[in-house]
Amino acid sequence: MRPLPFTKEQMERITKEYPTPFHIYDEKGIRENVRRLQRAFAWNRGFREYFAVKALPNPVIMKILHEEGCGMDCSSLTELMLSGAVGITGHDIMFSSNDTPAEEFELASEMGVLINLDDITHIDFLKEHGGIPKTISCRFNPGGEFMLGNTIMGNPGDAKYGFTREQLIEGFKKLKAYGAEIFGLHAFLASNTTDENYYPTLARRLFQMAVELRDLTGADVRFINLSGGIGIPYRPTDREADIAYIGSEVERVYNEIIRPAGMELSIYTELGRYITGPYGYLVTHAIHEKNTHKHYIGLDACACNLMRPAMYGAYHHITVLGKENAPLSQLYDVTGSLCENNDKFAVDRPLPKIDIGDLVVIHDTGAHGFSMGYNYNGKLRSAEVLLEPDGSTKLIRRAETPKDYFATLDFLPLFET
Ligand SMILES: *Cc1c(COP(=O)(O)O)cnc(C)c1O
Repeated sequence: MRPLPFTKEQMERITKEYPTPFHIYDEKGIRENVRRLQRAFAWNRGFREYFAVKALPNPVIMKILHEEGCGMDCSSLTELMLSGAVGITGHDIMFSSNDTPAEEFELASEMGVLINLDDITHIDFLKEHGGIPKTISCRFNPGGEFMLGNTIMGNPGDAKYGFTREQLIEGFKKLKAYGAEIFGLHAFLASNTTDENYYPTLARRLFQMAVELRDLTGADVRFINLSGGIGIPYRPTDREADIAYIGSEVERVYNEIIRPAGMELSIYTELGRYITGPYGYLVTHAIHEKNTHKHYIGLDACACNLMRPAMYGAYHHITVLGKENAPLSQLYDVTGSLCENNDKFAVDRPLPKIDIGDLVVIHDTGAHGFSMGYNYNGKLRSAEVLLEPDGSTKLIRRAETPKDYFATLDFLPLFET
């Protein structure tokens, strides 16, 4: 059984105020989790988490994270604008984008953010569109396969991101010639992994590369960005990543490589999923039961509200409120209403007997949940609600209305109001 930060009675009250479906985020859980991460890396004086905005791009959540000392990791024009609107700017933002349009580099330069370049050709492109800043970072792609022990964790050789080693050497020299003085190094080689060796193994790679770059180019490397990728236990049987252990293992590698090299580096992270993922819930009602060749429960939410199950076949745990201890006597496909057969939150899931009107809660929607939403079939995006530490709730995004859906047609005479 997965614990929830609200009771059935509380949620019945909340759904009277905000019609389902909506995502609700547990502020207390998010704050405590960030503090755990910061404690794990407290040994590193310059440690900073730059929250991956794409995971949960809500300004109220971003503000909460900023209060906790986080910066923001942005990768698009609107993510930069959103951060700016919350008053987050300058080196409180890491801009880790790829295939970057000129206007995005221009805004990033204007806001004075930390820019993490994805490609060697972007050096001259940035020089033209915003200029080369004093502090700059580059993304590394070592190629080949990324192994943890005997397991292939990622396929950098196939990934569109980053500079090769040779390009980093050439790129750092060029950036220096263009006036850059302080350098950072970034890589993202595995996604959604709870393997505690991921960050330490990645850190070793990046630390070695940092020493090598200093030796070969004379660059003053000051920070290493371990990026995102730490996963969460979506299944009740999944193990949680032990963040304190991960922090101490990265420290061990730091003491082994960086100290003897006479360097001092700040460690940055760009976690998204790990920070907010477990602290979001999609709250829905069961609106239909259908028995044909299989048994279906139809919800008032669909894949437009949470795409991961349809897109990746991802598991999201489901709790039927008030039936937490009931026997899992049924085998249901839990569906949305899209005209797509992959619009299923769960397939053949053992669940308690569900009645129409039951509150059905889908877990772990706090990252890459709402933000991956879309409007297929003319479905509207849901509201987002904040569950505050004292148990009260606050609307932090209203639900879309048909008017929002038609907004981009408002120049057509048909839709003029
Ligand atoms: C998506 C992304 C992240 C965050 O990934 P998580 O899996 O949510 O931790 C961080 N950095 C970059 C550059 C990304 O593209």
